[in-house]
Amino acid sequence: MRFQSLRFPQSLLLVLVLLTSLCVQAKIKVLIIDGQNNHDVWPKSTIMMKQYLEETGLFVVDIQRTQYLWKSEREKTYLPMAGNFNSVALKEPKEDPSFAPSFKKYDVVISNFGWNAANWSESTQKDFEKFIKKGGGFVTVHAADNCFPKWKAYNEMIGLGGWGDRNEKDGPYVYYDKENKLVRDTTAGNCGAHGKQHVFPVTLRVPNHPITQGMPTSWLTAKDECYAKLRGPGTNMTILATGKDQSDKAPTDRNEPILMVLKYGKGRVFHTTLGHDDYSFEGVGFITSFLRGVEWAATAKVTIPIPTDFPSAENATSRKFTAITK
Ligand SMILES: [Zn+2]
Repeated sequence: MRFQSLRFPQSLLLVLVLLTSLCVQAKIKVLIIDGQNNHDVWPKSTIMMKQYLEETGLFVVDIQRTQYLWKSEREKTYLPMAGNFNSVALKEPKEDPSFAPSFKKYDVVISNFGWNAANWSESTQKDFEKFIKKGGGFVTVHAADNCFPKWKAYNEMIGLGGWGDRNEKDGPYVYYDKENKLVRDTTAGNCGAHGKQHVFPVTLRVPNHPITQGMPTSWLTAKDECYAKLRGPGTNMTILATGKDQSDKAPTDRNEPILMVLKYGKGRVFHTTLGHDDYSFEGVGFITSFLRGVEWAATAKVTIPIPTDFPSAENATSRKFTAITK
């Protein structure tokens, strides 16, 4: 009896330890990559996304950053440049040869790069392509679709991009027209535009996708940019939702792609053009579609519910962000 009474709590403890380790192992492994962004909100936006993901209890998140060297006149030397350099951007983006994350350690990679991000070495590019082709997940947020205009596979993954001298050589404009017809428009022209930031309506085009299931057919963003005139190969791409720029000087009267999903080999890609500034990242529509997009890209399923404060066609909703200090 004495032997048994000792053994029972020990085996229970073992079961508990096993269960705990299983729970830890079951978390979705996320890598956020960033380093240069033409947006003042960076790198706060990376911290916001990391915290949103970890608050669900479903994800563990690492961050890896590229470096960009610049010549400091004061220091008389080259220093790593990380941050916003919209006004001082070098003519040609440089490469960061040291950037070589082990992508295969993760279920999903999120890009928070921006326009003119440092190029990756060819071997890192090939590693990344292999990772996605074999079934890895990828999420591109806002200006991450501005970078790497010359990297063919990257543009196939994101489907549509903006700026970076993209034009008709890179693929058609893809959008829904005023009659709500899906258009692939091969007209020659520049790529990437947006009107003034404002709260604008999003319309679901595929309401039964795991990411959009349960959302109202129409909902409002927080104050944000409605990206327009994006172009790219747009193959294996489904536009889940479009946005309509209602500002005075809207660049088009089209319904522009806002949320997209793509297949690349066995991999899944979620593309959101939302997320210009911290108040845009605070929009409940952004947060919810982002979290569900990351979960879907990693697992092909979505378990994260639509929250009760999700925006409607009449009411925009936001959550003030407070960083958790550790
Ligand atoms: Zn922006």
